[in-house]
Amino acid sequence: MATKDTILEEESGFPEVLPLLPTRDGVYFPHMIFPLHVGRDKSIKALEEARAKDRMIVLAAQREAVTEDPDAEDIYDIGIAAEVMHVLTVPDQTVRVMFEGLTRVRIKKYLQAEPFFLCEVEAIEEEDERSVEIEALMRSVLNQFQQVVDVGKSIAPEVVLNVTHIEEPGRLADMITPNLQLKVQTKQEILETLVPRDRLIKLSFVLQREIEILNVQRDIREKVEREMGETQKEFFLREQLKTIQQELGERDERGSEVEEYRKRIAEAGMPPDVKERSLKEVDRLEKMPFAAPEGVVIRTYVDWLVSLPWSLATEEKLDIPDAHRVLDEDHYGLNKVKDRILEFLAVRKLAGTLRGPILCFSGPPGVGKTSIGKSIARALGRKFIRVSLGGVRDEAEIRGHRRTYIGALPGRIIQGVKQAGSRNPVFMLDEIDKIGADFRGDPSAALLEALDPEQNSSFSDHYLEVPFDLSDVMFITTANLLDPIPPALRDRMEVISFPGYTEEEKLEIAKQFLVSKQMRDHGLMPKAAPEPEEEGHSEVVAESTTPLTATADIPTPNAPEPEVTESPYLLVEPEALQSVIREYTRESGVRNLEREIATFCRKAARKVTEGQTERIIIGEDQVADYLGPKRYTHGLAEEQDEVGAATGLTWSEVGGDVIAIEVTLMRGQGKLTLTGQLGDVMKESAQAALSYCRSRADLLGLDDNFYRKLDIHIHVPAGAIPKDGPSAGITMATALASALTKRAVRRDVAMTGEITLRGKVLPIGGLKEKALAAHRAGIRTIIIPKENEKDLEEIPDKVRTDLEFKPVKHMDQVLDLALRSVAEPDSRATRAANATLPATGLPS
Ligand code: ADP
Repeated sequence: MATKDTILEEESGFPEVLPLLPTRDGVYFPHMIFPLHVGRDKSIKALEEARAKDRMIVLAAQREAVTEDPDAEDIYDIGIAAEVMHVLTVPDQTVRVMFEGLTRVRIKKYLQAEPFFLCEVEAIEEEDERSVEIEALMRSVLNQFQQVVDVGKSIAPEVVLNVTHIEEPGRLADMITPNLQLKVQTKQEILETLVPRDRLIKLSFVLQREIEILNVQRDIREKVEREMGETQKEFFLREQLKTIQQELGERDERGSEVEEYRKRIAEAGMPPDVKERSLKEVDRLEKMPFAAPEGVVIRTYVDWLVSLPWSLATEEKLDIPDAHRVLDEDHYGLNKVKDRILEFLAVRKLAGTLRGPILCFSGPPGVGKTSIGKSIARALGRKFIRVSLGGVRDEAEIRGHRRTYIGALPGRIIQGVKQAGSRNPVFMLDEIDKIGADFRGDPSAALLEALDPEQNSSFSDHYLEVPFDLSDVMFITTANLLDPIPPALRDRMEVISFPGYTEEEKLEIAKQFLVSKQMRDHGLMPKAAPEPEEEGHSEVVAESTTPLTATADIPTPNAPEPEVTESPYLLVEPEALQSVIREYTRESGVRNLEREIATFCRKAARKVTEGQTERIIIGEDQVADYLGPKRYTHGLAEEQDEVGAATGLTWSEVGGDVIAIEVTLMRGQGKLTLTGQLGDVMKESAQAALSYCRSRADLLGLDDNFYRKLDIHIHVPAGAIPKDGPSAGITMATALASALTKRAVRRDVAMTGEITLRGKVLPIGGLKEKALAAHRAGIRTIIIPKENEKDLEEIPDKVRTDLEFKPVKHMDQVLDLALRSVAEPDSRATRAANATLPATGLPS
């Protein structure tokens, strides 16, 4: 191909008049060999003319490709002169021609337009310019071209190789340009740039743009490929999985599982939004591979949703006389409690709703709080569920964990409702005084939301995520003490207190209820006809999977009081029960009493099964055979008045109790030692008691400096909880005064009261419980703070008449009432006291 160049260079024989072939969709450059389809009649004629002469022809581009029959103006002025190399006629009558581009030409003049274009041209010569700049330009263009190839333009490797060897700058541009995908106009511009340096610069711009476009194209392509790749991969894997599942027969299982869920959702009576939510979850489950870990989470969640009693409710009956009957049937005594409950129910009945303050039963264990709750459920025809809040410190225990937690579950409220299986149970929240708060959130706030009738129609559990309507639930809380209940909660509650039972009441409860109940439970009663069970009132069995201490049962409604109260196998005589109450238990309620009765029954049952046919009779004398030696002494009959020991009354969450506070004096230097169960408050009380005695040294007939020569030891036995410290103040002062004056303390006098430094007596709490404890212990006189006089009316009549209450304002009055007037020289107590007292010059 170099031959034609040579010709041009020599400028010899280059015809100035040539036929012209307008090209439609391309611009052609010198030095190229390229094929062309020639179809237009005019063009074929021009071609024939060229072949007839010296095979030379001019190729110039049309401005518009669409122009079918272009005029001279439609054709660019600059084109190339080319040599016709081959001509091949193809069957469709077009001609395929191979050209070799020779040189740029300018069309000077059109000589004819028909039957083909003939024009006068001049060859455009190219300067062979060399400079450092040109060299740099050439390298840069080559570099850019290489980049274009690198980012993915498909160009034959030999082309790349060829261009790298080109040394003429203009020719380099001419060789590269045809390989690029450019608009006709752009290519034409490069063709028309006659100065090689300028041509290179122009090309460089074009290449740069090309690189950018190619880069973007590549990014898009890669992204598309990536995404395509992933979906294709997933699709492929799913298809594989499907096949495997089909092989294993799991496909059907999944299908039926999903169907089953849909059916259960349809039957669950859910509100529309909950239903929608559940179905969505099932849809997700369906699309998931069978063994996906997430599937387990979804299944558990949907299981919870479908198993909640969204619209299951027991039929409400609110008949006050009937409720009264039920409460009486199930419980002895508790008249005040029953009245309060019936009033509460009556108001609810008139108001037409069970909303309102939440009942809170407060009192020591075993006084019947739970069993009254069950009776209320029975009276109202509701289910009963009990959940303990003791030790709950985490908000999530009430309101559930979010589902993102592994092993998350709903909170205790929703768990309880599920167990109850009805949306309107009587829901007992036990030990509300034992919930705490810490960094995990305040459970009482969550509890408030559950209990508050204003908010609980859409109670939100973190796990459920959908609201549950608790407004038909009747909440009852229980507490041993009211003080620890968070104030916000306490505000919402109507407190009904259960004070504990007197000895007589316990005996009646045992005779009328506990013995027959335990005998029944131990199979010692003849089988009664099966009690009729009303529909929907079957026992709700606590599921083993729920980790909470809850029991749910439906008290059988209107169960006829069993006719038989006597067992053919066992008889427990009232005297035996009395002995158990007095000598084997020491409690406010009847829990231990019931337990001991159960012991009788258990042992009797064994005897029966071992073949004893005679009826077992447990009288007072047989109790020890069953329960072992007596655990407590009852009453004060054998007790003596003592010097240095006073009887105090304490009150804790298990009810009231009687304690003896002892004081011993030793020679020493005025040290005060305190032992036993003492809190800081009680230590302060002891100091106050000592200060009082010092300030009253005159009155007590003591040496002014008596305390300097003595060490004083005060012992408070277990049972007086530190919290209740101050109420032992007057007891300590009495014991101390007794020890110092050697006047004995009356054993039948018990006392409770806080003391100030100057001997004023301040009020205390829990008088009712304390009075019951004193009554149980056979005390006859109780010294109480004057300010507590108003509490006397709460004390059961029997106790109030049996005991003598002595309200006092000052410690001096206490000593008058509690201390014997003079030391009895012959009493055992005085002898003992004298033996321990050093010779201090104290009155004897
Ligand atoms: P609490 O919930 O206050 O701790 P419970 O309700 O569990 O006490 O009572 C303990 C036992 O004593 C139960 O078996 C209960 O039936 C029985 N009981 C308590 N008080 C009475 C009562 N007044 N009449 C009949 N049984 C009672």
